[in-house]
Amino acid sequence: MPFLRTAANSLVRTLLAPDCAACRAPLVRPLDGAVCPLCWQSVSRLTDPLCDLCGDPLPPDAAPFRLCRACLGDPPRFEAARSAGAYTGALKAIIHAFKYDGRRTLAVPLAALLREAGATLLADADAVVPVPLHPWRAMARGFNQADDLARHLGLDVWHPIRRIRHGPPQARLGRRERQTNVAHAFTHRPLFMLDWDRVRAARLQNRAVVLVDDVMTTGATIDGCTRALLDAGVGRVRALTVARVPAPPPASRPR
Ligand SMILES: [Zn+2]
Ligand SMILES: [Zn+2]
Repeated sequence: MPFLRTAANSLVRTLLAPDCAACRAPLVRPLDGAVCPLCWQSVSRLTDPLCDLCGDPLPPDAAPFRLCRACLGDPPRFEAARSAGAYTGALKAIIHAFKYDGRRTLAVPLAALLREAGATLLADADAVVPVPLHPWRAMARGFNQADDLARHLGLDVWHPIRRIRHGPPQARLGRRERQTNVAHAFTHRPLFMLDWDRVRAARLQNRAVVLVDDVMTTGATIDGCTRALLDAGVGRVRALTVARVPAPPPASRPR
């Protein structure tokens, strides 16, 4: 009943006056979600042409079946990666609200963006694998944002890898430091090898999985996880993130 919903929206608006979790403007229809329609509309989406492998944007005149310069020179271990949008503006603010302000209901609309951007990656995958947090960080935040996203993608969610290094938050590090920080931060080896772990390990062999995370910055975290999954016997690894920081043009890349 649209009338009742409109009335309920006005009631919540009058009594609680909640703000948009991203732009802080008062919400006209607070029951429809924590982020206003204008913020969702202004999310800057990544559209074709994209690098076939890593999913970074390419110049508009790029030929079909194209790779970016980085992938041509040093192809990644994963089969393909895609992101819904660039990590800037409204999308950045929405992800911050989701991750740092604990607006966990945003996992649903963010996962919808993931399903759209990653339709081909998810189509014939056996499961999704959330990028794990170190247990200490998971305890401090109270949840793993990647887990929340993975649960809304319509596939089994597997947790075959764990994070063994608890470094400084990635956001505070430079590009090069991130890469060394996370290259060996993940393992598929369980703390104790129980029967259940043997069953889980057998299940991974030659399967296709999609790694899921909120943001891809340098690709170092995704690469570290891919390495651990391939070590565990997974056949094909793909990666899907809500947002990404596209690689800088080659001339400005640090050497
Ligand atoms: Zn807004
Ligand atoms: Zn590429």
